[in-house]
Amino acid sequence: MSGLRIGLGHDTHALVPGRPLVIGGVRIPFERGLDGHSDADVLAHAVADACLGALRAGDIGKLFPDDDPAYEGADSIGLLRKVAALVQERGFRVLDVDSVIIAQVPKLSPYRDRMRERLADALGVTPDAVGVKATTTEHLGAVGREEGIVAQAVVLLERREG
Ligand code: MG
Repeated sequence: MSGLRIGLGHDTHALVPGRPLVIGGVRIPFERGLDGHSDADVLAHAVADACLGALRAGDIGKLFPDDDPAYEGADSIGLLRKVAALVQERGFRVLDVDSVIIAQVPKLSPYRDRMRERLADALGVTPDAVGVKATTTEHLGAVGREEGIVAQAVVLLERREG
């Protein structure tokens, strides 16, 4: 069997007043933020779920239950670090990640490289191994009505030698 594994992650959070907006570990100045039990970092969650998918190890809802007070307001980059440790424990390493954030607002391109750095640091890879893109839905659907933000990620893992 090949030593390569692919994983897909997908996440959605609602945009609400009174919350900070944190995406890819970067705090973004905006009048609303993402709703959730943790810091609701939609991109960190999608990347974490992609890793867990590649490991066939369930999902972040199973690993970090949202009724567990330990994860209330949790820094999702910290959760991603725990997932990266699990990747190592299971005998794999992260080879490559690509992702897309689907958001009508705010404009995210100024924060993209910082997100790549933050995610790469959590995963223990260099930023060139992490892609982050941003797109809108051309005002269509719930994202287009600025009701929420979606993120998707794919990750490629390789079994470590020995
Ligand atoms: Mg989530």
